Amino acid sequence: MSFDIVIIGAGPAGLCFARSLAGSGLRIALVERQEEAALVAPADDGREIAITHHSQRLLRELGLWARLREDEIGTLRDAMVLDGEDRDGLMFRHGEAGKPQLGWLLSNHAIRRAAYAEVAGLPEVERITGARVGAVRTGSDGAEVSLDRGGTLHAQLVVAADSRFSDTRRAMGIAADMHDFGKTMLVLRMRHEVPHEQVAWEWFGVGQTLALLPLHDAYTSSVVLTLPPPAMRELLALDDAVLEAVLAERFRQRLGAMKVAGPRCAYPLVGVYAKRFVAERFALIGDAAVGMHPVTAHGFNFGLLGQATLARELRAAVDAGRPIWSPALLQRYEREHRLATRPLYLATRMLAGLYTDDRRPARVVRKLALGAGARLGPFRRLVMSGLTADRGGVPAPLRLLRRSQRSA
Ligand SMILES: Cc1cc2nc3c(=O)[nH]c(=O)nc-3n(C[C@H](O)[C@H](O)[C@H](O)COP(=O)(O)OP(=O)(O)OC[C@H]3O[C@@H](n4cnc5c(N)ncnc54)[C@H](O)[C@@H]3O)c2cc1C
Repeated sequence: MSFDIVIIGAGPAGLCFARSLAGSGLRIALVERQEEAALVAPADDGREIAITHHSQRLLRELGLWARLREDEIGTLRDAMVLDGEDRDGLMFRHGEAGKPQLGWLLSNHAIRRAAYAEVAGLPEVERITGARVGAVRTGSDGAEVSLDRGGTLHAQLVVAADSRFSDTRRAMGIAADMHDFGKTMLVLRMRHEVPHEQVAWEWFGVGQTLALLPLHDAYTSSVVLTLPPPAMRELLALDDAVLEAVLAERFRQRLGAMKVAGPRCAYPLVGVYAKRFVAERFALIGDAAVGMHPVTAHGFNFGLLGQATLARELRAAVDAGRPIWSPALLQRYEREHRLATRPLYLATRMLAGLYTDDRRPARVVRKLALGAGARLGPFRRLVMSGLTADRGGVPAPLRLLRRSQRSA
């Protein structure tokens, strides 16, 4: 079978990319190893995704937003960062950004469900589900994607969105910087006695990092706890009643009694940054290109941004009658997405390292950083612009650089 583009992976990035190309005239195959039923009604994976203003706009344009129920959309009004036993932390207030809120919170499974429903209605996208990609070969004459269950797809361009542990990236010989933080992150929806008032918390305690993400219901939040793997294994073995008491105590009873209200989902914390995002007739998008540590809540936001950048380049090529696989086009995507993501990727790695290091020097540095940050308005505004900017959260100096490169 022949297509213009084969997309590998129907996760949020691959699905949004397919949707972004709707109406472009390109024939697309979307290959996913999961069965169709798991894509139509994805299992709750516990992740609540913080969405920036720019991402919200993209989700609206793609038609996903309209497919979310009102009770699936949480408001992220303000955010607070606490260190150790401090009662008052560094506040990020929506008013300083001149916005009614800093962002939104959406469940990952709701995003996946909405994205799949959008793509399922597109006649130009052939969905090949329950099929794992085996080999990928690209060359000057075209690209071939072999499926483990048999059969080969031919295409002009292959786009891999097959997760941060992308087999396709490896098969194409693209190396990646991988950083294993040696920690496990538990995400768990909980009900609590004290309302969250739509404020997210990030709390860096000794031996643990805790976060609280406010959901639609005023008394329900997503609890995010980061621990070394042995301590996490012990925690996961507890029954609900004991776990509830342990978590209420870890939050120093600030939320009152807490009740488990969703599945316990644990994730190993590994950051990944591909050395290259493109090769001959090949591109990486989503986590396969940039797999962020969740602490700065930018993995999917970057995934959305990257797919939109590549889709825009491809549409322009189609309109101009130019090849969609041209090295110059792919290089433009690579350059723009690297510029947009690399600084925050590196800053996140540093931050995650600093805030999960309980040795005394690190504790002193973060106390100083939080103290200075709390006093300095410009620092706060810089962090908030990542959430509230309408143009992809790319800091102004990078936007200027990007513009000058485009005109060069
Ligand atoms: C705990 C947690 C919290 C997070 N919070 C946030 C947040 O607040 N904000 C934010 O922006 N991001 C957040 N993220 C990141 C976000 O969830 C990811 O960036 C996003 O889900 C990545 O989407 P993706 O489509 O690139 O990859 P994935 O979701 O990993 O999807 C990859 C798809 O490819 C398929 N696949 C893999 N290999 C093959 C193959 N060989 N053949 C066929 N199919 C294949 C898989 O089955 C899967 O469906 C968080 C992540 C975690 C773990």
